[in-house]
Amino acid sequence: MKPAIQRTELRTYYYTPVHCPFCGKRVMGADPADETRITACAHTLFIAHDTAIEYRSPRFDENVSLKGLSDQEVEARWKQDEGGVDGFTDRVTVADAIKVAAYEPEPSAYGSYYGFAPVA
Ligand SMILES: [Zn+2]
Repeated sequence: MKPAIQRTELRTYYYTPVHCPFCGKRVMGADPADETRITACAHTLFIAHDTAIEYRSPRFDENVSLKGLSDQEVEARWKQDEGGVDGFTDRVTVADAIKVAAYEPEPSAYGSYYGFAPVA
């Protein structure tokens, strides 16, 4: 299935900090004291990796039918997807949404996923 969301993949420079394509905000690692801190902007739909969806915006929840679900229910939902978090976040249909997928090289094959979309 062709993903609805437009995808960009980082495979060589997978460690490059990801910034929002719409406002330029660095969404992860912007805080030198805590590089794992997420600093989502208004355009951020989701920030995830292969074992969890770390940040979900209300627009994302609405778009992929996660609204009102508990964290456990959300996890059960993406785990049902054969593509895991990567496949699940490919289902986003928010208009002009862009996903950056950063894959660490084999044998790790660990991925990080960032979703953005313009706001009206
Ligand atoms: Zn932004």
